[in-house]
Amino acid sequence: MTTYHASCSCGAVEIEADGEPVVQCYCHCNSCRSFTGSPVNAPVLWPRDKVRFVKGEDKLLHYSKSGHAEAGRYSCGICYGIVGVYIFEANLFDIFGGLVRDLTFTPTLHINYENSILPIKDGLPKFRDMPEEIGGSGEMMAE
Ligand SMILES: [Zn+2]
Ligand SMILES: [Zn+2]
Repeated sequence: MTTYHASCSCGAVEIEADGEPVVQCYCHCNSCRSFTGSPVNAPVLWPRDKVRFVKGEDKLLHYSKSGHAEAGRYSCGICYGIVGVYIFEANLFDIFGGLVRDLTFTPTLHINYENSILPIKDGLPKFRDMPEEIGGSGEMMAE
């Protein structure tokens, strides 16, 4: 089984994920944009129990909008770099594609395309919000 590795910007926090991700995609939502400062985000999602912090857990900063104890965003308290987001509702852990150093990022869809500020013509499916399987409407949009 493959184990993937990621870390924050300074390397104080390291994280591992076992096995292949459930989905790799582009996200155009306002939340990702405001958090990352980037027009498009690159979520790579694993089941929560496949992901673990292996170094620097005591350095983590945690922010949750939902109020659930473990849900929300994790950053390094030294460099403030993002390390992951726990999506409690779906029980998935998101490590942004640019952080997973041994993964070839191969997205298969776009989500939250209705909020896009950077249209991308790559032929991949564009979901208005999200696929039905993960709680969205499943509605598609043109590029
Ligand atoms: Zn760091
Ligand atoms: Zn997003």
